[in-house]
Amino acid sequence: LVNRGDFLHALEHDVKPAFGSSAEALDHYLARGIITWGTPVSGLLEDGMLLINQARSTESSGLVSVLLEGPPNSGKTALAAQLAKNSDFPFVKVCSPEEMVGFTESSKCLQIRKYFDDAYRSVLSCVLVDNIERLLDYGSIGPRYSNLTLQALLVLLKKEPPRGRKLLVLCTTSRKEVLKDMEMLSCFTAVLHVHSLTKPEHLIAVLEESDVFSKREIQDIARKLQGQKLFIGIKKLLALLDMARQTEQQYRVIKFLTKLEEEGGLDTGSSLH
Ligand code: ATP
Ligand code: MG
Repeated sequence: LVNRGDFLHALEHDVKPAFGSSAEALDHYLARGIITWGTPVSGLLEDGMLLINQARSTESSGLVSVLLEGPPNSGKTALAAQLAKNSDFPFVKVCSPEEMVGFTESSKCLQIRKYFDDAYRSVLSCVLVDNIERLLDYGSIGPRYSNLTLQALLVLLKKEPPRGRKLLVLCTTSRKEVLKDMEMLSCFTAVLHVHSLTKPEHLIAVLEESDVFSKREIQDIARKLQGQKLFIGIKKLLALLDMARQTEQQYRVIKFLTKLEEEGGLDTGSSLH
């Protein structure tokens, strides 16, 4: 028996992606926006735009696949979502391990396959495959992974869409070397590196975009970070800022710097205090 609820469910989950945009799905990954904290970010967005144009162009083949690789917390998923959004392709689908928790290998493969099949039906489509190594059930202890899912992805990453259709595939991973061992790296049109913040000026640019610290406090932090080496992902940094925001104002700067040091965001931890 099919009732109204089923119909609405289908409308929400099955029908819409084939026609309308899935921009809301992307906004979920972009809730905190993209802060252009330095040339690594602007450079990646520019390279991404070239690849998007390549995917759209009628002379090129119908398939452009891009891997965004970088350390954990460096902002891979958000940047991939931003590229998908920049493409302005009407069909966008996000394939992420979170929504496949508890799936068997074969149902996972079927689901991935369905995303691509849906994409082939639209003229301009974008499929975002987030966190590939997780999707493949890769575990560093073992190491084991789902060969079935790997084979499915390898096929889909190479398969040209039907004539006249354009497909942009955006993938993310923090385990580039694992994908290399799985002979997946060579499948991509391009591999873009997502950087962590490595210079004090990167960090200061983020502080200036957020409203946690006053101008004077930012100057203070800049002075203390001078000459220090830094290595922190944007996601981690934003989390530290959230924590600082909750801290009483008089302790905010020192709390932030201490946490930055504790998290290993600073290479040398000597001269802070
Ligand atoms: P994980 O390794 O856990 O998969 P990730 O590398 O995918 O993490 P994201 O989940 O994309 O990281 O988190 C990045 C967060 O930082 C997002 O909330 C995003 O809105 C925000 N952000 C702000 N500026 C940037 C930027 N320049 N690049 C990427 N993300 C940014
Ligand atoms: Mg991610």
